[in-house]
Amino acid sequence: MHVRARRPRGPRKAAQWVPQERSVFMKVANGQVVEMEYTLRDDAGEVIDTSEGSDPLVYLHGESQIVPGLEKAITGLAVGESLKVTVSPEEGYGTLDPSQVMKVDRKQLPRDAEPEVGMQLAGMGPDGHPILLTIMAVEGSTVTLDANHPLAGKNLHFEVKIKSIREATADELEHGHVHDPNDPHHGHHH
Ligand code: ZN
Repeated sequence: MHVRARRPRGPRKAAQWVPQERSVFMKVANGQVVEMEYTLRDDAGEVIDTSEGSDPLVYLHGESQIVPGLEKAITGLAVGESLKVTVSPEEGYGTLDPSQVMKVDRKQLPRDAEPEVGMQLAGMGPDGHPILLTIMAVEGSTVTLDANHPLAGKNLHFEVKIKSIREATADELEHGHVHDPNDPHHGHHH
């Protein structure tokens, strides 16, 4: 008995693949809301900050909400992609500025806490923005304060993974920040 190969009738249809989320085609770009997991380590490999054990970071790409070196490095990544990148102080929290170190009399500090090396104080910068001051030294009645960002002058070793990407809404673009989808109008102050 002969078995004849049967030719398929008509042209073969290509299998259709319809992704459930359009975001699989998206790549990180300005004006998008990006959700990512991250871990930040210093030169010694010590973890400085991580999203592990809590919610991923959600931010609006292109609005300088993350340090410039990291924002640049993750531009073009797709959902599910990971990246390891080292960011220099210049593209991170800046270099150490010696003019940001000052000596004050301890009488000028809040009375409620005894000044100790390493203690951080909330202060107000010359432009009215809140700044964080770190006590560097306590000598007699003289306290040395450092207004540099605690991560200034440090290389930042990031490990990130993109969890999701979506287009920002018109409101989010206008405000320059992400809105909570469960509370689009009242979740924050302007
Ligand atoms: Zn807003």
